[in-house]
Amino acid sequence: MSSLTKIGVIGAGNVGAAIVNALVLRNVGKEIVLFNRDKDKAIAEAMDIDDTIPLLSEMTVKATNDYKDLSECSIVAITVGARQKEGETRLELLDRNAKIIKDIIKNLDKYVPNAVLIMVSNPVDILTRVAQEASKRDSNKIFGSGTLLDTSRLRFQVGKELNVNRKNVHVHVIGEHGDSEFAVWSNAIIGSIKLKNFPLPKGLKLEQLKKNTMQIVKNRAYEIIQRKGYTNFGVAVAVAKLIQSVIRDEKKIFSVSVKANKEYNLEKGTVLSLPCTIGSKGVEYRLNVSLNKEEKVLLLKASKSLGEAYKKIKA
Ligand code: NAD
Repeated sequence: MSSLTKIGVIGAGNVGAAIVNALVLRNVGKEIVLFNRDKDKAIAEAMDIDDTIPLLSEMTVKATNDYKDLSECSIVAITVGARQKEGETRLELLDRNAKIIKDIIKNLDKYVPNAVLIMVSNPVDILTRVAQEASKRDSNKIFGSGTLLDTSRLRFQVGKELNVNRKNVHVHVIGEHGDSEFAVWSNAIIGSIKLKNFPLPKGLKLEQLKKNTMQIVKNRAYEIIQRKGYTNFGVAVAVAKLIQSVIRDEKKIFSVSVKANKEYNLEKGTVLSLPCTIGSKGVEYRLNVSLNKEEKVLLLKASKSLGEAYKKIKA
């Protein structure tokens, strides 16, 4: 039996610890289990976050390096990832990470066979596919944080340019969580007006707005990593919102890494980021977004390059 208030986070690095912190700040769940192979690191992060709890809520954070402690979690986020070694190619790194993920999935299938799993480790679309193939659970119960963070970055930038609250900006970034991601501009809506009909500030052209905002989104992680070495707070809140949507069965729509529905006409097994409703069963409904000709080409291109990388994994 899983409890809808017990959440697991695998990996107590920058991202894993920030997710636990975001869950505590947002008061999501009752009990969080933070797993790390080096237990001391998990203990330190749990203690530090624990110190905020008396000021905030009634949650508990347990540190562990034992998979058994995750039993009864209804949802587990996976954030472990090996770092690139000197001289190592991205493909070799992917191979190492795929091996780590398969091992984690084997343990999660044993101790939490019914939990929803959220993949956060990069390359997130490919590792989500690795996890889905390795696990015995239904693939709707495994999805990646995908382009949710990129979508939120884009909504913020477009809102800023148009002087509109970002919550009224409806546009999704889809495809690969990475360099080939793109915005579905053909469906963008501001409030209830199509973006193409929305009055732009003086001197701003629509094509310029699209180009500038997407450029900021694509460079964002690089800009942050260049200055502090990693990104963690943005993705942590994105994952906390996904976890919340699952444990409270909110059925919110987010762009996440999933097996593409057949309407997109992509190669079978393709996993990339697409808008879906997220609820207690994990991915509950995959939206069939209508794309224009140019967007279809971009999605096909992303699917091909992700598929090729996936097939090269030897692990
Ligand atoms: P980090 O190095 O701080 O933490 C990585 C964690 O993985 C550590 O706890 C480490 O102990 C664990 N780990 C490494 N090798 C392992 C192994 N062989 N077995 C078990 N555990 C192992 O890294 P981070 O900054 O927290 O990033 C973690 C992952 O999240 C990376 O893959 C990163 O690319 C990804 N990330 C994803 C997004 C997103 O939007 N999807 C955003 C930021 C980071």
